[in-house]
Amino acid sequence: MTTLDRDRWLASLRASIPEISPADALTRQTQGSVLIDVREDGERAGGMPLGAVGLSRGFLELRIEQLVPDRSDSVLLLCGSGQRSLLAAETLQRMGYSQVASISGGFQRWKSEGLPVATNALDSDAAERYARQLQLPQVGEAGQAKLASARVVLLGAGGLGAPAALYLAAAGVGELTLIDDDRVERSNLHRQIIHADARVGMAKTESARIALAALNPRVRVEIRNERLQADNVERLLAEHDLVIDGADNFPARYLVSAASRRLKLPMVYGAVERFSGQVSVFDPRRHDSPCYRCLFPEPPAAADAPNCSEAGVLGVLPGIVGLLQATEALKLMLGIGEPLVGRLLHIDALSMRFRETRLPRDPACPGCGDSAAFNGYQDLVQMCASAG
Ligand SMILES: [Zn+2]
Repeated sequence: MTTLDRDRWLASLRASIPEISPADALTRQTQGSVLIDVREDGERAGGMPLGAVGLSRGFLELRIEQLVPDRSDSVLLLCGSGQRSLLAAETLQRMGYSQVASISGGFQRWKSEGLPVATNALDSDAAERYARQLQLPQVGEAGQAKLASARVVLLGAGGLGAPAALYLAAAGVGELTLIDDDRVERSNLHRQIIHADARVGMAKTESARIALAALNPRVRVEIRNERLQADNVERLLAEHDLVIDGADNFPARYLVSAASRRLKLPMVYGAVERFSGQVSVFDPRRHDSPCYRCLFPEPPAAADAPNCSEAGVLGVLPGIVGLLQATEALKLMLGIGEPLVGRLLHIDALSMRFRETRLPRDPACPGCGDSAAFNGYQDLVQMCASAG
């Protein structure tokens, strides 16, 4: 096609496709029109019209129906200078969209007229993937960006870690680190739903990584096939924003608690047994927050330890508790709502009652009390085999 041919073609498109000014587009946007920026992801990285949805020209036909299911809705298209949006508009017209307009002058003119621009704009994949939580004013693009830059470490890819990791990945948390040295067993599958029958025998971390990548390939998953111990706890937990405690044993919980305080890392605690569970948040960044040892000052005697595999658990219980932990983690990352700090939530599935008790900080606590002293990390005797 020669330049002359191209100019003629664009002129013929202009005859059949309405072109509007950026200022008119802004007005129509406030009246409910969908503004789609059809430039490539890289071009939009420098900013796009506030409230616009990024959807590259190359994916327009494939994804427009998800974005605008009703073909009588008003759709405004924007590109760099106003030519590609004309071509895109013609395509949408042919697909049956009856109210399509191209924004004349494109993003160049939008910017030069001083109209509102969003930077750090989401690419089309993220805009579509997180559409339903982006609609929440408490999340929005700013919240989504917070999640994308967050790093969460999960102790255990088991009963609690499995559901928590799945939902945190789905929500768009940027990086998840999974610590677990177990392998998938068939008896895990009734509750550890991140794993699959075909992956029995595989390292839990690797099995979980496969599931998370399939769910949301945007999330970085780091795996650590190590048992949490005194000599590695601080290294494994450092440089994260919070820890999800899905430990299956008391020694690990005491180590996590100590490291949480040392690293000022919020610890989202969860535990399950038979038909009941507990959730709380220990946030060492807050002076009024209790720690795990305010709740359990010293490890229980082996005979009293409830987290043993022999105790058994209804498979859905860790799912419920793990999702409550994921909920608290998302709230902490987004900085919204009222975290479960200073409160212990008890769940009884048989009566289906959720009960809350106050859990104040204990001034005499051996972990965070006024005279508490840190004498190094200590490995406690393993009291129970895995449960989780
Ligand atoms: Zn304490």
